[in-house]
Amino acid sequence: MKEIRLDGFMETFKSASKIVITNHTNPDGDAMGSALALQQVLEKMGKEVSVVVPNPYPKFLSHLYGNDSVLIYSEGKNAGNTAIQEADMIFHLDYNAYGRTADMEQALRDAKASKTMIDHHQQPEDWPDFMYSDTDMSSTCQMIYEFCDMFGWLEYLDKHSAESMYTGIVTDTGSFKYSATTARTHEVASKLIGLGVEPQVLHGKIFDAQPAARLRLLGAMLDQMQLSPSGDKVLLYLTEKQCDRIGFEKGITEGFVNYGLSIAGSKMTIFMREEKGAVKLSLRSEGQIDVNQIARNGFNGGGHKNAAGGKLEMSIADALDYAKATLVWE
Ligand code: 5GP
Ligand code: MN
Repeated sequence: MKEIRLDGFMETFKSASKIVITNHTNPDGDAMGSALALQQVLEKMGKEVSVVVPNPYPKFLSHLYGNDSVLIYSEGKNAGNTAIQEADMIFHLDYNAYGRTADMEQALRDAKASKTMIDHHQQPEDWPDFMYSDTDMSSTCQMIYEFCDMFGWLEYLDKHSAESMYTGIVTDTGSFKYSATTARTHEVASKLIGLGVEPQVLHGKIFDAQPAARLRLLGAMLDQMQLSPSGDKVLLYLTEKQCDRIGFEKGITEGFVNYGLSIAGSKMTIFMREEKGAVKLSLRSEGQIDVNQIARNGFNGGGHKNAAGGKLEMSIADALDYAKATLVWE
């Protein structure tokens, strides 16, 4: 599904001087990459731009240019609220529902600014003044490139913004392997390399700079993996105790869910992580199995057809039972 509603965007944009860029809670590579890339572009056009994100993001994204000036709402509500209240224009990147912005939601709802959504998730809410929604896109970072292309802004791209966009494309496509990766995705990546991105260096910063605890957590998770009797579903999990003992930190389990699909015959997998007595989930599937719907219907979440997330307010033991009952474990 694609919905482009950008009539009148340029006039509104021209008259905006203060701009705020936001993304979703627990920002990932695509959320941070798109926000920081767009910030660079808009600053080159003379705008005053703040990036305000709901809560902290993983350390492996701190190499992105502009990282030092990001406002983290959960750690400084006053600064975040001031930026949001004073903004003439707000960009909503990599999310399409206010509920994805955690504590920032009310401030965003109340903002007087015009609102522009750029996003690739399913079923966008209808509040934005301007919308660029395309669920076939590999990443919001690719959409930032396309957005710049639409408005003739490619001349404002540079090595810094290119690195940010490349980071989001790489993380959201599983290094160019998920189904939303198209010829155009590679074409955009090639333009970004032309702007100075060094893929090997950037991959190293993203994937090969992880704490040892990541591998220990992975080992614990794989050791207790559960396979459905027919082998088409895989449950992966980590308890709060394990996370505390081994040393969980934000973002450290990123990508763990994908191991569940690497087994021959598995078509769907869930990774659950217990935190403060509740459970955060990631779901992944192959082909026609729609985990966006499954997450919306049974796991208080959503996302894409083959990659979604959600939350259960119960212990991990109950969540495992609940998942087996909900997913038909046979
Ligand atoms: P991940 O499993 O990597 O956290 O998320 C997979 C996809 O689902 C991402 O595109 C993410 O934005 C989306 N997602 C993750 N958690 C939630 C959630 O609680 N609600 C909704 N609506 N989407 C989610
Ligand atoms: Mn994304």
